[in-house]
Amino acid sequence: MTTTATTGPGTHPDFTAEHAAALVGRLRSTFRTGRTKPLDWRLQQLTRLRALLTENGDAIAAALHTDLRKSRAETDSMEIGSTLTEIDDYLEHLEEWLTPRPAAVPAHRFPEGTEARTQFDPLGVVLVISAWNYPVNLLLTPVAGALAAGNAVVAKPSELSPATSALMARLLPAYLDTDAVAVVEGAVVETTALLAQDFDHVFYTGNGAVGRIVMRAAAEHLTPVTLELGGKSPVFVDRDADLAVVAARLAHTKFANAGQTCVAPDYVLTDPVTADALEAALITAIRNLFGTDPAASDAYGRIVNERHFDRVVALLDSGRTVTGGQHDRAAKYIAPTVLADVLPDAPVMREEIFGPVLPIVTVPGLDEAIGFINDRDKPLALYVFTENGTTRRRLAAETSSGALNFGLPISHLAVPGLPFGGVGPSGTGSYHGHYSLVTFSHRRAVLDVPLAG
Ligand code: NAD
Repeated sequence: MTTTATTGPGTHPDFTAEHAAALVGRLRSTFRTGRTKPLDWRLQQLTRLRALLTENGDAIAAALHTDLRKSRAETDSMEIGSTLTEIDDYLEHLEEWLTPRPAAVPAHRFPEGTEARTQFDPLGVVLVISAWNYPVNLLLTPVAGALAAGNAVVAKPSELSPATSALMARLLPAYLDTDAVAVVEGAVVETTALLAQDFDHVFYTGNGAVGRIVMRAAAEHLTPVTLELGGKSPVFVDRDADLAVVAARLAHTKFANAGQTCVAPDYVLTDPVTADALEAALITAIRNLFGTDPAASDAYGRIVNERHFDRVVALLDSGRTVTGGQHDRAAKYIAPTVLADVLPDAPVMREEIFGPVLPIVTVPGLDEAIGFINDRDKPLALYVFTENGTTRRRLAAETSSGALNFGLPISHLAVPGLPFGGVGPSGTGSYHGHYSLVTFSHRRAVLDVPLAG
């Protein structure tokens, strides 16, 4: 059987739990044949996935431009390049990572010759539900991890990036083993039908409200979940930091994809004197990136839809506008905006911004900054700009976050050896590189005691 289920507006509007059950049943039959388990099959699928990315750069860039007006440079680096880095990591290390790991055996309790090891077993059929903001990377990186671990996969792209979703639904079956990989396009109806099925793992990227729905549905089958969620990732800027460097790095990482990045710096915490100087440095940094009229810059993206546009525009009155603030609903354009004198309870501080607005909140010093961070949900990332060793150590020891990044926001994603994920409300579980293998495998304990002796 070679069909890959694709549903979505205009294709299978009646995708029901029965359709989903048939699809999962088909993939499970493939899994039971053992076909997805050999290293050769996994490497072949990963190589094909690599080819999908390298042979379709133009089509991918066009789809991302349609959905988000993403620039080619951003597409090449943060969608295609970052996914290739992950795939290459598997191609290089998978065999070594799959080698069973020996465990020490307490000699006084077991006969001589006893061996113990941990082996990585595939889970079976996994569901990957993806988000719209990096719709190639956030779909294909977990799919790559699931395939590397020897699973069959159902991939559900986001309906909010429809051009990319349609492209993924066309390309994945053209490159991958369609008996083991299926794409289901669509929105709540399709995802609900899928979530009613008995998967071996559900990997979800998106907001926490839907994360709860996913976790509840998975609980019915005792299916483990990975939840890659979001939240407000703070930036602490110390008074000793070089503010030209800080501003350039903040502007680049905050305003990439028009601020629609789960690990984007959400807000800045700093003392009042540093805040003043940082304001001026940010104006310069934004102009260096996007010129005097970011609306005319090819490097600057757009908000995904009117609902998110209205939500972000409603946050613009939360402080004094240092730069930006212009917006155009027809074009879904919101200028890169910096707000100062923002109070801790201002609207922009009450939810994840997920748009091109950077509030600066002042605190007297490090103690108050740590208190501010700890009074709120554990963030997906904490960013710190300082040369001070004590400040670094205190922030590392006295706060919690999915990642702690000194010096270059977002970039920890580009290190496949680091786990990517949140903690508490910012997420459950992690992936990337070897951590994807852990996520999508069962670590099976094997004990081998000699019968003789
Ligand atoms: P989204 O709207 O694309 O939703 C994510 C997925 O959930 C989609 O596939 C969608 O079809 C599905 N979905 C939506 N409603 C559903 C429902 N009622 N039942 C079942 N499935 C449903 O994306 P979003 O949630 O707007 O994404 C933005 C959020 O995701 C932000 O909070 C952001 O920080 C977070 N995010 C996290 C990561 C990460 O890796 N940690 C990456 C990107 C985005």
